Amino acid sequence: ATQFTIEGLKAEIEGKEILKGLSLSMKGGEIHAIMGPNGTGKSTLASALMGHPKYEVTEGSAELNGEDLLEMGVDERARAGLFLAMQYPSEITGVTNSDFLRSAINARREEGNEISLIKFIRQMEGKMKELEMNPEFAHRYLNEGFSGGEKKRNEILQMMLLDPKVVILDEIDSGLDIDALKIVAQGVNAMRADDRAFLIITHYQRLLNYVKPDFVHVMMQGRIVKSGGPELAERLEAEGYDWVKAELGIVD
Ligand code: ADP
Ligand code: MG
Ligand code: MG
Repeated sequence: ATQFTIEGLKAEIEGKEILKGLSLSMKGGEIHAIMGPNGTGKSTLASALMGHPKYEVTEGSAELNGEDLLEMGVDERARAGLFLAMQYPSEITGVTNSDFLRSAINARREEGNEISLIKFIRQMEGKMKELEMNPEFAHRYLNEGFSGGEKKRNEILQMMLLDPKVVILDEIDSGLDIDALKIVAQGVNAMRADDRAFLIITHYQRLLNYVKPDFVHVMMQGRIVKSGGPELAERLEAEGYDWVKAELGIVD
């Protein structure tokens, strides 16, 4: 069974400490949500876990099924089963979506065991249909000229094809209209599995109406300061974060 454990994680960017001892434990089959005010380090957490070179981890650990992720390079982390769908996916000119996806899949496979072109196309087309994506997106340059909703759907397509063990969605719901939100949520729900854990980073409770989290965590000042069930997300949506600060004596 998948076990993902973060303990006492501290990370800095350009010498400024952003993550200040963050701990979180997730098992396969579970959906966790992290909510928190802007600038509290949510995206930093996602980037630090993925091994983004701008973020320096100074303390703590992150393990996936007993393997130390922090010792691994970016590609190795992906091979170990970590996947991040980003708030602002990058555009890559000159690389088509389909080429990008196929090389991402093959980068996670052993040499000599690459996916055949025919099998890949069949899988990709099947998933694109599920996500109600126009087939022409396969042949467009990655994210170039994609609308916000199209980029997010494309991130979900990548997730579906890569079949990861730990999925981190960083504000995938921002800027989505309700139809795109539902499709993204359906994609996530369809990917729920006993050996896969989800970490949904979100500002709003909206997405959580469609993807029911098992655990909701509040992040403030670089740490998880409070955890609960779905009712916590509803209260944050209704009342904001001030009551959490008051309860915990947090001053900013
Ligand atoms: P959140 O996702 O919770 O809104 P971020 O992780 O994006 O928060 O940002 C946390 C803090 O790190 C903020 O104070 C932000 O200004 C700072 N920060 C983020 N990215 C950079 C960067 N590339 N360079 C300098 N500071 C950054
Ligand atoms: Mg932000
Ligand atoms: Mg962010």
